[in-house]
Amino acid sequence: SITPASLSAISNGARKGMLFKGGVHLERLAHLKAIAFDKTGTLTKGAPEVTDVIVRSSMSEDEFLVKIGSIERQSNHPLAQAIVHYVRGEKELQLVQPDSLEDVPGWGVIGSVGNQSWKIGKADFVGKELVEHFEDNVAAKLAEEGKTIVYAKDDEGIVGLIALKDIVREEAIAAIEQLKELGVYTIMLTGDSEKTAEAISKETHVNDYIAECLPENKVEHIKHLKTKYETVSMVGDGINDAPALATSHVGVAMGEGTDVALETADIVLMKNDLSRIAEAVKLSKRMNRIVK
Ligand code: ADP
Ligand code: MG
Repeated sequence: SITPASLSAISNGARKGMLFKGGVHLERLAHLKAIAFDKTGTLTKGAPEVTDVIVRSSMSEDEFLVKIGSIERQSNHPLAQAIVHYVRGEKELQLVQPDSLEDVPGWGVIGSVGNQSWKIGKADFVGKELVEHFEDNVAAKLAEEGKTIVYAKDDEGIVGLIALKDIVREEAIAAIEQLKELGVYTIMLTGDSEKTAEAISKETHVNDYIAECLPENKVEHIKHLKTKYETVSMVGDGINDAPALATSHVGVAMGEGTDVALETADIVLMKNDLSRIAEAVKLSKRMNRIVK
């Protein structure tokens, strides 16, 4: 039921760039004790840029980029879009039509182009042993800089990697600090690798992080938080975040998130502004006092 107080708070929220899909969600925020954030597109802008390309085979860098770009063009993952932008926009290379493609959410893409089948994505996806064989300390160093590494493997083995750096949202640190001041435990859940996750968690000041999370791991972790904390929120933008948004007490979607995230969430941050969350918690606390 929506009380006049919650109705005015909802419209107040809407003016401030937050869409509440009902008064109960706003009321619950007063009791928020833990909040989990997705990384890519949530704590970061989700607009990564290619910083390094390493090719370790007889293939030229341009040929490598054309193959990877042509396959990634079929995926709408932010990393895929960044790679395509780099290959076409910056390198001005012509993409080709891949013969087949399969998007594997949380892992990467599988595609075939020019009689070779490719696996493009995280280390565990292309094969951890292969990656270890391919790597010296280069990849570790890139990850320590907070960069995400996309490996590419063809039928013969690892051909190369592309490193991308995403920018942390300007307001992220302040938003996290405000939540902590309100007594809320903050954690980042990401599908990205351990080292990259550690770097971004330090940059954003979250209390803790969990790396290498598949969509189902995000759900498990929200369930775990619910056993420890009275009210738990999840903030995300992707298809892979939707189950975790639904599992949390208060699901929050970024306004520029995917449709599934927007549909599943209880609250939408229309301007992607993370600092609105702490403001909403304060608003909710004030509102609950008025009602009582
Ligand atoms: P996050 O939780 O950080 O938003 P995702 O769950 O979307 O990340 O993806 C997890 C990881 O899977 C990425 O960091 C990347 O390594 C890999 N990945 C997913 N999709 C793609 C893709 N289309 N191309 C390359 N790598 C991908
Ligand atoms: Mg995301």
